[in-house]
Amino acid sequence: MRPFKYVRASAPDAAARAVASNPQAKFLAGGTNILDLMKEDVERPNELVDVSRLMLAEIKPAGSGVSIGALAKNTDTANHPLIRKNYPLLTQAIVAGASGQLRNMATNGGNLMQRTRCQYFYDTSMPCNKREPGTGCGALEGLNRIHAILGWSEKCVATYPGDMANALYALDAVVRVRGANGRERTIPIGEFHRLPGDTPERDNDLQHGELIVAIDLPRSPFTMNYYYLKVRDRASYAFALVAVAAALEINDGTIRQARVVLGGVAHKPWRSAEAEAALSGKPASEESFRQAAEAALKDARPLAHNAYKVELAKRAIARALMRASRQA
Ligand SMILES: Cc1cc2nc3c(=O)[nH]c(=O)nc-3n(C[C@H](O)[C@H](O)[C@H](O)COP(=O)(O)OP(=O)(O)OC[C@H]3O[C@@H](n4cnc5c(N)ncnc54)[C@H](O)[C@@H]3O)c2cc1C
Ligand code: SF4
Repeated sequence: MRPFKYVRASAPDAAARAVASNPQAKFLAGGTNILDLMKEDVERPNELVDVSRLMLAEIKPAGSGVSIGALAKNTDTANHPLIRKNYPLLTQAIVAGASGQLRNMATNGGNLMQRTRCQYFYDTSMPCNKREPGTGCGALEGLNRIHAILGWSEKCVATYPGDMANALYALDAVVRVRGANGRERTIPIGEFHRLPGDTPERDNDLQHGELIVAIDLPRSPFTMNYYYLKVRDRASYAFALVAVAAALEINDGTIRQARVVLGGVAHKPWRSAEAEAALSGKPASEESFRQAAEAALKDARPLAHNAYKVELAKRAIARALMRASRQA
């Protein structure tokens, strides 16, 4: 591991200022991703600004919804009574991620910021436009079994690996961030992560030095009919090959509104407007769910080794919606 300076931040503004003033500095929260990346020499910050002791871990009612501190641990978030009662989809998604030990350390802000699990990104002997812009993409013509089938570019075919953000997208979350000037801005979760385009080195919309301080959730109509389905190679410590955050508002057997967000298929959580439109006003039936699944994948562009994900995603969507409607 390369030497680096360690600084413990005393307040959010001081933390943001410290990182903003050094292009090579990074925040340190639970450390479950950044420290692995540093040990593998993938990330090389010369300074870590420890934010883990800042008072940003509260989960509290806010308006008709809830505000979740960026430094609340994943475990505490999933188990919080307000989340379990009003946002059970989020609890399911968090618990589907990582392992109990990791969730005890991992923070919500760090979870949103976690980097791809593309093997070529981790292997510093291989070309990778995300790690070193302009070097090429090892996965495009390489082993791309776990990679994207939607929204990828010639520059990068990686997927965003997280679970929590998929549920947050279905629940219309907003990410609150604070810059070095002390000003806050909000980013709808759907605009937080980005597609790779020509700049895959940028995972998200955050500017250098901006600190995530909270995630705000509006009141949710999806407390009854929801399901987070995650398909992976093994039952724990594994990232999604395909995940589905499904939520339905059903009135007398008819779907009033739906949310279908896919994980493991694109560089960002992939909300399917096509599936949601196909479900709106339809009966909550297996046939409607299968049609929605077809609609969601109609523009899929599989790579050499991941065509299986197209069928897998269709089946996962139909299954998740069946579970959400309590028919399976
Ligand atoms: C073996 C293993 C399996 C895993 N499986 C899953 C899984 O199945 N699903 C899943 O979703 N995740 C999984 N994870 C990822 C894990 O959830 C993340 O590593 C964790 O959420 C990151 O949070 P952290 O607080 O430890 O972040 P850190 O490692 O401390 O930081 C990660 C990044 O976020 C930045 N950062 C941290 N906090 C902030 C903030 N407040 N504002 C701005 N930037 C910030 C840091 O600078 C760094 O770049 C797994 C991890 C491991 C090691
Ligand atoms: S898919 Fe993206 S992260 Fe993976 S090698 Fe290509 S550029 Fe790098």
